[in-house]
Amino acid sequence: MAELIQNAQILDTAGQLVDSDVLIEDGHIQAVGPHLQPVEGVSVTDAHGAFLTPGLVDVHVHFRDPGFTDKETIRTGSQAAAHGGFTTVLAMPNLNPVPDTPEKLAAQIRLNQTEGVVNVLQYGAISANLIDKNVSDLAAMSAEGAVAFSNDGKGVQDAGTMYQAMLGAAAVDKPLAAHLEDNSLINHGVINEGVASKRLGLAGITGLAESSQLARDLVLAQATGVHYHVAHISTKESVTLVRLAKEQGIKVTAEVSPHHLLLSDEDIVGDNALFKMNPPLRSEADREALVAGLLDGTIDMVATDHAPHTASEKAQSMQTAPFGITGIETSFQLLYTHLVKSGVMTLATLIDRMLVRPIQAFGLAAPKQIQVGQVADLALFDLTDTTTINFDDFASKGKNSPFVGWQVNGSTLATWVAGKRVYERTAK
Ligand SMILES: [Zn+2]
Repeated sequence: MAELIQNAQILDTAGQLVDSDVLIEDGHIQAVGPHLQPVEGVSVTDAHGAFLTPGLVDVHVHFRDPGFTDKETIRTGSQAAAHGGFTTVLAMPNLNPVPDTPEKLAAQIRLNQTEGVVNVLQYGAISANLIDKNVSDLAAMSAEGAVAFSNDGKGVQDAGTMYQAMLGAAAVDKPLAAHLEDNSLINHGVINEGVASKRLGLAGITGLAESSQLARDLVLAQATGVHYHVAHISTKESVTLVRLAKEQGIKVTAEVSPHHLLLSDEDIVGDNALFKMNPPLRSEADREALVAGLLDGTIDMVATDHAPHTASEKAQSMQTAPFGITGIETSFQLLYTHLVKSGVMTLATLIDRMLVRPIQAFGLAAPKQIQVGQVADLALFDLTDTTTINFDDFASKGKNSPFVGWQVNGSTLATWVAGKRVYERTAK
């Protein structure tokens, strides 16, 4: 089955938008160029000048399946990914059972492949049940197809555990992604320690819980030669540490979430758990440092940390609600609207941070450019329309977004995986 997409705009190698048609056949891109003629039997799609790109890549999602399927399933999570224009995602291992052995990991990968409507790749757990000291058999999990390793959701408290895990990950040349959180500095906090925590009378989480563990890990990363990846970086001190480490030649990459780029703790006006996530929204100065870091390449990529919860869980107070927000469906349009349209960065830079860098850093096989011969993983965005983010539009089971009500441009019109449509916007 062949499909001809006419009148699209694609980024050329110089980062400029150019008019182009794209022919998909047998799951691959067969032709790219202006004014391609439809041959018999080809279905024709008029893109009306919309922006066509290889599908975006998110290296940090939580699909909750198995174990927590009232929050999300691989099916609904991957449908949400397709709705957001993502065709490859990397799923975190805080599941039940935790994929911490080659057998459990292989079962999880099979489930991802059967249930996922996009490419769902899997992290293996650094340690058994995400508990310190019992480092998993990373070599065996790598052989089974683990894309990288992480204990995301929990910080690795013990330097010895982290050191052993880094040696294991380095030996198989797979990235190790760290959720940075020193438990001895958390102090039962629920939002950032600062003006907002004082104003709201809530316990605060100091940024030192992140940056002090990062400093430790960078020293260990230098000693082991591992590819060390910082998950959801959130403070200006952490950005400085990553910048210094890169200057020292330490093999470090970092991701930042859309919410840490667009919100600070000043935006938390009341006891509203839609603003509760881990790491928490930091100060405005931190937010500005994160944007600057993403712009200058210190921070390599955007990752959503898509963390769905049920409506009743997130209806609780800041004190008792779980950490995490849904995010994969709104990330491109939020960042397009507030970073590209507002003039902070070019569209080419945003696509670099949401597509090219994640693929390069994690050594993924996903396509970085629209080119003949590439697999047809594609997303089509309408950069001109204006929509309002709405609870009812989420494919995810998690509707817990602080961005509901925001006006955005750049909604997804269609998403393809290997030439097959996995999302298509229906007329309202
Ligand atoms: Zn995390």
